[in-house]
Amino acid sequence: DLILAKSLSRLGTESAFVVLARAQKLAAEGRDIINLGIGQPDFPTPDHIVEAGIKALRDGHHGYTPANGIPALREAVAADLHRRHGTEVNPDNVVVVPGGKPTMFFAVMMFGEPGAEIMYPNPGFPIYESVIRYSGATPVPIALKEENGFAFSAETVLSQITPATRLIIINSPANPTGGVTPKEEIDKLVAGLMDHPHVALMSDEIYSNMLYGGRQHTSLLSYPEIRDQLIMLDGWSKTYAMTGWRLGYAVWPDALVDHVTRLCINDHSCVNAATQNAGIAALNGPQDAVHDMVEQFDARREVIVRELNALPGVTCTDAAGAFYAFPNITGTGMTAAQAQDHFLDKAGVATVAGTSFGKHGEGYVRFSYANSTENILAAMERIKAIL
Ligand code: PLP
Repeated sequence: DLILAKSLSRLGTESAFVVLARAQKLAAEGRDIINLGIGQPDFPTPDHIVEAGIKALRDGHHGYTPANGIPALREAVAADLHRRHGTEVNPDNVVVVPGGKPTMFFAVMMFGEPGAEIMYPNPGFPIYESVIRYSGATPVPIALKEENGFAFSAETVLSQITPATRLIIINSPANPTGGVTPKEEIDKLVAGLMDHPHVALMSDEIYSNMLYGGRQHTSLLSYPEIRDQLIMLDGWSKTYAMTGWRLGYAVWPDALVDHVTRLCINDHSCVNAATQNAGIAALNGPQDAVHDMVEQFDARREVIVRELNALPGVTCTDAAGAFYAFPNITGTGMTAAQAQDHFLDKAGVATVAGTSFGKHGEGYVRFSYANSTENILAAMERIKAIL
């Protein structure tokens, strides 16, 4: 047998991909499956962005680019952040990577080692905990509660800081809960972190364009006092329906830019040039497609929250952001895993058990509404019939 590094056994995965594979297998066997398990927009990438990628290939953009990203792309990111959040960002602090995930991986590997503690949302995006364990650091969950709309509580986060804390990860709007953390709570968190200048904060803002019911996104970039501690992650996957292109970025503090650039050089050299050019077109071009997509998500959100609340034994908060509803299913008598299997096997509806996002997800199931209203209504009918 080959002798593998022990660290490999600590690496987790993203169960949404496992559910997707099972749903696809059932579909291949002829079952009619409605997929509310997947975490990606069901819209195509807007045409002008696709054309920019094709044009870049035709124009001969076939070589390496700077490891941190094409300068015009990093300038477009800075301009976009100014437009959306009213903040000044130096393009030299922007590092472009293949998607949202690499920033997480690099940030955690930069701070994580045995003896270090890293805080992360639970339930939350499963890759946070996986990578923290892989690094050898101790994962410290930030329990998110339904009664707070799954928002972060600054008090909870601050009370868990110890001398071993190196990095805190937050995510708003959030996967899998749709929770949005209000500005007052972020104000308190930032104020509290001023007492802990050695603790870094990674704010995953990949759903920053997807807030509903008149809510406004509060970017951590709008707090100048925390810039030296802040890694702000965002990207193109969700906003521009570009999950398969693999394009994301983070704004890094001055002290970390060289370190992360070196990680990029060691890992992937650069993001492919055609994709980066498509990314420029996305940011600098018309935003109508983004607005239309968000409007459609909002309409579907109202439908799915209403229909979930009408199911026996199920209650659902109003899902303030992203494109997920996270109903409480404890009234059905099933565990999260049982509900996920029951919905798929008996109703042909793919969802993801809350426990796939951490132990605090027990009692909940994630429904993605990145699917048509027609399919959402059909899925709810089928689930109602089996409950
Ligand atoms: N962050 C969160 C909270 C996510 O939900 C996702 C994707 O599901 C990502 C980051 C990763 O995005 P990407 O596909 O760009 O790596």
